[in-house]
This record gives sequence, structure tokens and C-alpha cells, in this order.
Amino acid sequence: MIIKTETDTIHPYTFDSSNMHGNADIVYIPEDFDELRQAIKSCFDQNIPMTFSGAGTGITGSRVPNGGAVISTELMKGISVFGNGKVTVQAGVTLNELDDFLRPQGYFLAPNPTEMNSFIGGNVATNASGSRTFKYGAIREHILGLKLILPDGEIISLNRGEIFADSYKLSLSSESGKKYELQLPVYKMPATKNATGYFAHENMDAIDLFIGNEGTIAAIAEITLKVLPLPESIIGGIVFFDDADKLLDFVIEIRDMSLINNKSNPESVKTISARLIEYFDNPSLNLLRPKFPQIPEKAIAGIWFEQEYSTPNEDEIMGEWYAMIQNYTGLSDDTWIALSDKEHKEMAEFRHELPLQVYENLTENSQKKVGLDTAVPIEHFPELFRFYSEVFGNLPLQYVIFGHIGNSHLHANIFCQNDEEYALALQIYDRCIDKTLALSGTVSAEHGIGKLKKKYLRKMYGDKTVDDMIEIKKYFDPKLLFGIGTMFDINKI
Ligand SMILES: Cc1cc2nc3c(=O)[nH]c(=O)nc-3n(C[C@H](O)[C@H](O)[C@H](O)COP(=O)(O)OP(=O)(O)OC[C@H]3O[C@@H](n4cnc5c(N)ncnc54)[C@H](O)[C@@H]3O)c2cc1C
Repeated sequence: MIIKTETDTIHPYTFDSSNMHGNADIVYIPEDFDELRQAIKSCFDQNIPMTFSGAGTGITGSRVPNGGAVISTELMKGISVFGNGKVTVQAGVTLNELDDFLRPQGYFLAPNPTEMNSFIGGNVATNASGSRTFKYGAIREHILGLKLILPDGEIISLNRGEIFADSYKLSLSSESGKKYELQLPVYKMPATKNATGYFAHENMDAIDLFIGNEGTIAAIAEITLKVLPLPESIIGGIVFFDDADKLLDFVIEIRDMSLINNKSNPESVKTISARLIEYFDNPSLNLLRPKFPQIPEKAIAGIWFEQEYSTPNEDEIMGEWYAMIQNYTGLSDDTWIALSDKEHKEMAEFRHELPLQVYENLTENSQKKVGLDTAVPIEHFPELFRFYSEVFGNLPLQYVIFGHIGNSHLHANIFCQNDEEYALALQIYDRCIDKTLALSGTVSAEHGIGKLKKKYLRKMYGDKTVDDMIEIKKYFDPKLLFGIGTMFDINKI
């Protein structure tokens, strides 16, 4: 195990991609499961707070330490078992490394979070999702097994489908035979993608409690994932629009067709059945224009789509997409189409460039940013979309709106040059949160609560539910050592 105690070697572990900064006294870098457990047990015995670190790509300050120890999984790189559509990895394997391992064997991990340098452990801890979540769901739906370490060093192994709550009562055992009996919070989760607080549901699978825990109740050591065979063929496209209303109508039509057709066997599908539908607003295109001057001049917004298909159906599917695109945009001739691996990679890079530019804007110009990660049930999305147009249309601040429009989930990022702008951005943020909650949505669809969104966790669920979540935290972590300041306000515990 590597141990770092010098300020300059600790420094890289004291911030994340939100640009929030903290401090730590020591960093442990275990090389395997036993060393991870040893680091946790040693901190537990000495009452040292622990913050788990993945790649630090989180944007809510969740891995930013509040003193004590950082435990980084960066050397836990094992990929141990592969077969029957399953792979078992240690927490420090990155999405890129997993993809490099799976692709030559003809498999892939479906959800596709954009930041491929993030660790699978970090993805599980935040219930990450990505562009293909539209068809395949968040990472939660692809997690078949977890090996967890609790604050006192007890080990719990869970396989999906094996242990369920009895209504809201959950019973678990650790490998040493220690019993856990707990009452789950009773509350209604939104009918959207969601990464807000602990997962709780009547008769839920025990594994779901630990997915999205943001390092507050258990360390994620090993993960068994469901992986899928690579599709036979994929068509991708970026469609540009000169009219926002038509873009919305286009999205609703392709989304609703896809929600039905994605349930069918791909071999029988000869029409539109997208696996991802992503949005770029005009400021997003403007941010990308210097690097991609081929973006059409008249474009005020764009949609990226991809569809998996069976090769014999290619002509019919292409025909359907061309007809649909022509129906909804005057810029149909400017559509970019991708069929080869190289072209798909270029399109994915185009999409990835956007959050990268946002992050660079933030760090290079020392700006502050306010970033929304909200989603609403699909029936309410048109109202939210129009609300954003109204609110952002006249905003005297630099902003971009992009993201997972197929899931009714957009990221609005507002950049602030000074405190005055920051105060205004926070007001806008609060208005958008209020609107989202009025539309039965979630304050975080994929990034989690971290240290930056605690207030909104309470706003969304109310004090009683959050206090019940804190009881879960206290049950597993009575000394309050894991992820202090993440998800809950420590002073309130
Ligand atoms: C350019 C960019 C694009 C992004 N795109 C997406 C996207 O498409 N979808 C998405 O969901 N997110 C996205 N994110 C956010 C981020 O990548 C995800 O939240 C990711 O899951 C974090 O993984 P990480 O390894 O970097 O974790 P970190 O940031 O290091 O940690 C995140 C949280 O997980 C906890 N944690 C990490 N490892 C463990 C472990 N082994 N056990 C227990 N707790 C642990 C940490 O304590 C912390 O609470 C993006 C970020 C950037 C900068």
C-alpha cells in the first residue's frame, strides 16, 4: 500500500471536477482488497474520517475530503472474471480500461457515462448514467454483484436477486456472520433517472441501497457488471435545427417511437428505435464552433442520435431517419451521419468536448459555475424545456444547456465572472429547481448530491425523509467516519 503524507502529494486528492477544494492529512492507496480493508479498519480503530476517492471526475464535491484520510482505489485494477455476459472488476478500473478489455471480446457496458476516465467504483457510488441510459438505464440496472466494506471492516457481498426487503425492513449478514436489521425510509422516488439520496423502495433488492451511496455507508471494493454483446450495426447522426419548437417536436416523436421499438428484438425493427438522444443548445454549439467550424452557420441547436440495427434492415431504417429529419428541420442537408467506428468515435468526441470545455472554462478562467442536473417525468418535459427558454433566453450571463434530452434530463451550466453574477446564477438555479420539483422531477439525475447540493436533497424529499436517510447512515457508520459532509449536513447529524 502506498501512503502519502506530504502536502504536495496529498493535494491532488483534495478537489474534484467541481473545483471545490478541501484538505486531508493522509492518503492511502491500497493495491488490493485486503489492503483496502486494512486501511479502513486502521482508520476506524483510530476514529479517522475517511473519504473514498475514485478518479475525482465528480462534480458535486463528493470526493473532496473534510480532513482525515483519503482512500484512493486507483491501484485496484483487477478484472477477474469474464463470461456469460458478466464481468467482475475492482473499484479502480476506469470505464476506458473496461471498454478496452471488453470490446475485443465483442462486449460493451451499456450506459456509457461520458467521462471515460472515471472509475467503475465511482460510477457505482454515484449511480452514474450516460447517453445510452435512454435505452439501457443507469449503471444500477447493470450491477449484478457488489463486494462492500463497512466502516468497521465488516465485509458484505451481495448478488442481485438474492436478498430483498420485507416491505421496508431489510436483514443482511456480513461474511463474519454479523447481522444487520434496519428500517428503510419510506418515500416516493421520482419517475425519472435519479441519483438523489439513498435508494429505498418497498421489497427492494438489498444491493440497491449501496448503489449511489456516494461513499457514505460502504466502500465499494468489487463490482460484477452485466455486459452486452456489441450490436451488429449502428447508425449515428447529428441533426441541426434553426427552430427550437421543431426540435422539441422532433425529439418527442423519435423518443416516443424509440420507447416502444426499443422493447422489440432489434432484428425485427425496421423503423426508428434510438439508443441515445442528446441535445446541444445554441450557446453549446457556439462553444464548440472554434474546434468544429463545420457546424452549420444557421444552426441554433442540435440533436445527436444513435440506433443499433440489424444489417439487412439498413436501407429501411436509413430511409425512416432521413424522412423524419426532413420533416422537422430546414437544415436536413447539413445532417452529419456516422456509420463506421471512426465516425461514431468522432461524434462521441464532439459530445464529450462540451463538458470538457465547460470544465476548462471553469478552471482556466478561474470562473465559478452553477450546474443543473435535473430531470422530470417525460410528460412534463415540454413544459420544462419552454421554461428554460424563457428563463435563459434573457439571462445576462454566459451559459450552456446540453445533455440527455431523451431522458428529459438536461445540464444547464451558468458561468460566473464575479460574486454578483454568482448570486444571480444561484437565483436562476433555485427557480429551475422549484420548477423541476413542481413537475415531480429530481434535483440530481446522475451526478449525486455530494457537498454542493445538500440543501436541495432536503428541498426535494423534506426533513423527515432526509432524517430517515441519516438514520441509515448512522446505522452502518455509527462513528460517522465515511464521506463526512457528503449528502448530509454533518452539523445536523
Ligand atoms: C467531463 C465530464 C463528463 C461527465 N459526464 C458524466 C455522465 O455522462 N454521467 C454521469 O453520471 N456523470 C458524469 N460526470 C460526473 C462523474 O464522471 C461521475 O460522477 C463519476 O461517476 C465519478 O466517478 P469518479 O471515479 O471520478 O469518482 P469521484 O469523483 O472520485 O468520487 C465520486 C463519489 O464516489 C465516491 N467513491 C468513489 N469510489 C468509491 C468507492 N470505491 N467506494 C465508495 N465510494 C466511492 C466518492 O467518495 C465520491 O463520493 C462527468 C464529469 C466530467 C468532468
